[in-house]
Amino acid sequence: MYNWRPYAPRAARLRIHATSCCGEYELAAEGGEYFVLRWTGGSDKQEETGRGVYAHALEAWSALASQHRCSRRAS
Ligand SMILES: [Zn+2]
Repeated sequence: MYNWRPYAPRAARLRIHATSCCGEYELAAEGGEYFVLRWTGGSDKQEETGRGVYAHALEAWSALASQHRCSRRAS
């Protein structure tokens, strides 16, 4: 559904606009482009998807954040 690829910085400044409940997904902005970042298991590398205008990235981030299995849920 989402095309993930290794995060490759394209601008000097990365800004995080929102983070999902347990930090798995982040809504990020860089040089006027918006995208979703996710942490890949077992390393400090990140992947990105949905790069584009704010509304597009926000939609992807909202869908991912609402669908994921929360690793910090207590019960
Ligand atoms: Zn969560």
